Amino acid sequence: MFCKTSPQTSFFDVQKVLPNVLSKDDWCYLYRDQVYPFIDEGIFRELYPSETGRPNTPIKKAVSILIFMDMERHTWRGAEFLQTRRIDWMIATKTPLLGEAPIDHTTLFKFFLRMESSNAARNLFKQLTQRFIEACGTSTKKQRTDSFFMQGWLQTLSRYGLFKETLRVFLQNLRKQKPGLYEDISKGLSRNYLEKEFDLTEKDHEKAQREVKRMAQDLYAVYTVFDKHHQVNQYESFKTLATVFQQQCEVVENPEKTVREVVIREKPVGEEIISTPHNTDARYVRKGKQTVCGQKGFLTETCDKNNKTQFITDASVTSATTADVKELPAIQERLEEGKMKPEEQYGDAGFVNGQTIVDSHDKGIVLEGPSSGRSQSFEKYQDKDRPLDTADFEVRVDEENKEVSVLACPEKQAPTDLMRSEKTGKTLVHFDASVCKECKVNKRCPVKIGVGVATLTIDEASYAGAARHHQYMENTDYRKRCAIRAGVEATVSEMVRAHGVRRSKHRTEGRTRLQVLFAAIACNVKRFIRHGVLHGYVVSVAAVTTPSAAVSVAQTAFSSFFLHVLSFIYVSGRKSPHFSIFKTKTTVSTCF
Ligand code: SF4
Repeated sequence: MFCKTSPQTSFFDVQKVLPNVLSKDDWCYLYRDQVYPFIDEGIFRELYPSETGRPNTPIKKAVSILIFMDMERHTWRGAEFLQTRRIDWMIATKTPLLGEAPIDHTTLFKFFLRMESSNAARNLFKQLTQRFIEACGTSTKKQRTDSFFMQGWLQTLSRYGLFKETLRVFLQNLRKQKPGLYEDISKGLSRNYLEKEFDLTEKDHEKAQREVKRMAQDLYAVYTVFDKHHQVNQYESFKTLATVFQQQCEVVENPEKTVREVVIREKPVGEEIISTPHNTDARYVRKGKQTVCGQKGFLTETCDKNNKTQFITDASVTSATTADVKELPAIQERLEEGKMKPEEQYGDAGFVNGQTIVDSHDKGIVLEGPSSGRSQSFEKYQDKDRPLDTADFEVRVDEENKEVSVLACPEKQAPTDLMRSEKTGKTLVHFDASVCKECKVNKRCPVKIGVGVATLTIDEASYAGAARHHQYMENTDYRKRCAIRAGVEATVSEMVRAHGVRRSKHRTEGRTRLQVLFAAIACNVKRFIRHGVLHGYVVSVAAVTTPSAAVSVAQTAFSSFFLHVLSFIYVSGRKSPHFSIFKTKTTVSTCF
């Protein structure tokens, strides 16, 4: 049942019991006063039934612990262990010294899992980011975007490993659910897949090839036996096996043999190629020397030079095979929904092409950066024999209906006529073919020279892409302006090194997305507190509130008394002679 955390603080609240345990400008006081109250628990209402069940775990505390975990890269068990030992965590989350059970790692993980199929984490990210941006006076007019690869949680498998592990996972499940069926099928397979041998690699190439063929036959045998079985064919492990088989193998009729032959495809077919049965969302991609089996993350942050603090405004995760340009519209929509829409957005060539420039313009965003699909080499661009493109023509674009009209070609020939294709929506520009045939640059020109007419096909998007390429290659000032994009690489690096987003900690894409979202929240919280102190726009209430002399004396007397009582309880209970509080460079702990 959903219920909010009580606003009332406990009698044993650390700040009351030990008011001077940490310096007043410690991050935990700032978190307690400036972040903790702004965690809107109402966002999480959808995760719980409204009237039945036991009350949920304190949401503000659970969310805070998830943020601290990403700030310092702790595990679930680590977070459980530290929440009753870290004084700064206890102060930040208003946890009393006595009377409140810690959130165990299973409950914390289940809370995390509840968020997988909801928008709660994204809404939390949006609300906190808006709060930070407002408090710091950060402008969102200029933003920059970049992508990075995330390695999957598991080892990248070869075809040998994929077949072997897919069969093993399915047979293990079958043996558990239907032992009789397992006994029947296992007799006909080429090997015992459930024996205690977990090697998923084979160094001998020829042996590996032979084994792969045998395992393909086994996959086919299992697939044909259970494809029509109304219970087994509903198992997730069987669905994975069937997909792997269809993507990697094909069955051909062999007239010389009575049995059908299983042939391994040269390249797997399909859009969503499974790379491991344990994480069917992970995709394999190769970029240069880099090979990845996992996901792709996207980060957008503010980049106005006048901002004292830049914040991450969007974080998302897609399949590793998603092109940057495909994700850009979704990024812009989320920014608009979150009331953080930029006026100018900077990206690298992966995000910028003619279509994204035009679409962004329609949304009121000026997309800046080099245009993709063209060589970024200045030598090639300045080469006198480089191919001409539509931006070499004299072109006018109608601002209202977006129609493109060509006034003259690079050799100053005026077109004979223009027509708009109803089918493609593109403009067909005709030139005199006899002139074009004699033209000295006709080998470099994009017109298609026919018998009677030469045709140039052009539309707003292709022209915008070509024009941007010319602008980027010719205009030094524009390139300098676009250089501001490079700063986002530092944020990606920070997220990778400090918050561990290079590797997914989870098996599914949804949970990986949550991991990146919480890492982005942690990064923003860290920036908000650090820069807030530096620039003086974040002040802890505790730091500005000085208790009266009488209250101060009473507090000191009470803390001294309480420490003695606590010490006595632990000494008698655990036979430990020590109770102390220590602080290292980054951590403050109570130690019993
Ligand atoms: S080939 Fe025709 S359209 Fe192209 S530059 Fe020469 S004259 Fe102009």
